Amino acid sequence: MFVTRTVFVIQDANVTVVGAGPVGLALAAELALAGVSVQVLERLPEPDRAMKAQSINMTTAGALDRRGLLPAAEKVQRETLGRMGPVVEGKSPSDTRITGHFAGMAVDADLVDWDDPDFVAHTAAAGARVVPQPELVALLTEHVTRLGVPVHRGVEVTSLEDTGDGVLIGTTAGSVRTDWLVGCDGGHSAVRRLAGIEFPGEAPELTGIQAVVDTAGDLPLTNGWTWTPRGTYRYGPQPGRVAIVEFDHPPADRSTPITLDEVQTRLRRVTGLDITLTALRGTPTRWTDNTRQAASYRKGRVLLAGDAAHVHPPFGGQGLNLGYGDAVNLGWKLGAVIAGWAPEGLLDTYDAERRPIGQWVLDWTRGQIGVLRPDVKSGALREIVADLLGTRDGATYAVKQLAGVTQRVDLPGNHPLVGRYVPDLWLRDGSRLVDHGHSGGFLLLDRTPDGAFARIAEPWAGRVTTVTDEPATPAGVLVRPDGVVVWATDSTDIAGLEDTLRRWAGI
Ligand SMILES: Cc1cc2nc3c(=O)[nH]c(=O)nc-3n(C[C@H](O)[C@H](O)[C@H](O)COP(=O)(O)OP(=O)(O)OC[C@H]3O[C@@H](n4cnc5c(N)ncnc54)[C@H](O)[C@@H]3O)c2cc1C
Repeated sequence: MFVTRTVFVIQDANVTVVGAGPVGLALAAELALAGVSVQVLERLPEPDRAMKAQSINMTTAGALDRRGLLPAAEKVQRETLGRMGPVVEGKSPSDTRITGHFAGMAVDADLVDWDDPDFVAHTAAAGARVVPQPELVALLTEHVTRLGVPVHRGVEVTSLEDTGDGVLIGTTAGSVRTDWLVGCDGGHSAVRRLAGIEFPGEAPELTGIQAVVDTAGDLPLTNGWTWTPRGTYRYGPQPGRVAIVEFDHPPADRSTPITLDEVQTRLRRVTGLDITLTALRGTPTRWTDNTRQAASYRKGRVLLAGDAAHVHPPFGGQGLNLGYGDAVNLGWKLGAVIAGWAPEGLLDTYDAERRPIGQWVLDWTRGQIGVLRPDVKSGALREIVADLLGTRDGATYAVKQLAGVTQRVDLPGNHPLVGRYVPDLWLRDGSRLVDHGHSGGFLLLDRTPDGAFARIAEPWAGRVTTVTDEPATPAGVLVRPDGVVVWATDSTDIAGLEDTLRRWAGI
């Protein structure tokens, strides 16, 4: 039952985001930029330092770039690489282009065709960025703080009631009302459960752990992933960092603390070596291959984003990137509905556009489990995949998928840019189109000699930033606040621009 006791935080927030992980913070920032009031409730009193994502791909780097945050992320990368050992044997970390891996099979950066137009189009796609999750969360916390978003820590959401025109939220610190509630509260989402949203998928079959360890002497392990008849393990790239995967069964309780003894036992079992560990450093993590996607990303006034909407094994590093994409897709749409210039139906496009990308990620990680199993058939399949990844086409294909450069939203329009994330469009003044979008909103590039596109967009002046440039190709591009191109042309023909503005930027 809902309790109407203490009111502990602002009551009039348009949106309450549950969870101050990377997705909740990214979403809160987008909502603040859209001009709505937003607060974040987070059950942990301090930010989580657990070892999870180590890097971000093009889709996340591109989103940070569009808000002017990429230089800060690159500073984190330089500092992190400075602390790391070689990622690739014989190369210093700063000389290494980070590509990623498929089921532990690292993709050789020297094989990748970096001149492929998809890579050339996106500077932010030039290899993954090494940005550990805690550092990304710190960067985003600073960002939302600058935008004036309150992050209330030590507050756990325990109940919710959708009243049709808002949501009553019960928390460990009292109760509060909000117009909209977004659960960014991770894979075990309380919001998803309390809202009664189904979470269909497959039960887990493995247990993985990741830890940084100290040892009695040098660890007799080589950098990278190794397969044994009892499972698989990875050593490096940081000194002492190990990941161990056993396929015997999932953990009875994922939240059971990981002890030094457990790491040593698992490492001995999988490697078959008599390894002695002396200490655990940092906060180790335990994971499974639980693979599920919410039946709906929205139910009434409650929405889901990030791990709350989908979970999958962490192989190939996709989860954070997928969730970040949810956040930037949802933020401006929810902001537009609250501001009243878009109908509520705009929110339907959130599920429609993000679900297929989520399904793809789930399949990409399912495929890796199939290759990783320690049985003889999976071993044979692994050999074949390794051969393919060892080719120029195979390596380029894999890195494109990992980077997300081929991601596309299914939108009407014949121009090849439509539905894609906006590429780096350099202007004559030396800036790029995305440099003009740091405060959110739509971007219109007008390269007609007489400003024909800019004139069409005048009624949308408050929502659309028009950037004029000298004639070049493409001649015109309209970009949504989430970076997706919704209209583009190589001619000076205005056809379709006004309709597209009405469709996405309101009336
Ligand atoms: C070992 C490992 C390695 C990974 N590597 C990668 C990688 O390389 N690349 C990648 O992209 N992804 C990776 N991931 C996945 C990535 O970590 C997750 O996808 C990401 O954390 C999802 O972010 P989120 O904000 O949706 O959820 P979370 O990060 O889980 O944040 C949810 C937040 O909600 C809070 N919360 C939960 N319940 C409540 C409640 N009831 N009330 C208030 N607050 C609540 C939690 O305390 C938490 O802070 C990895 C994951 C693991 C485990």
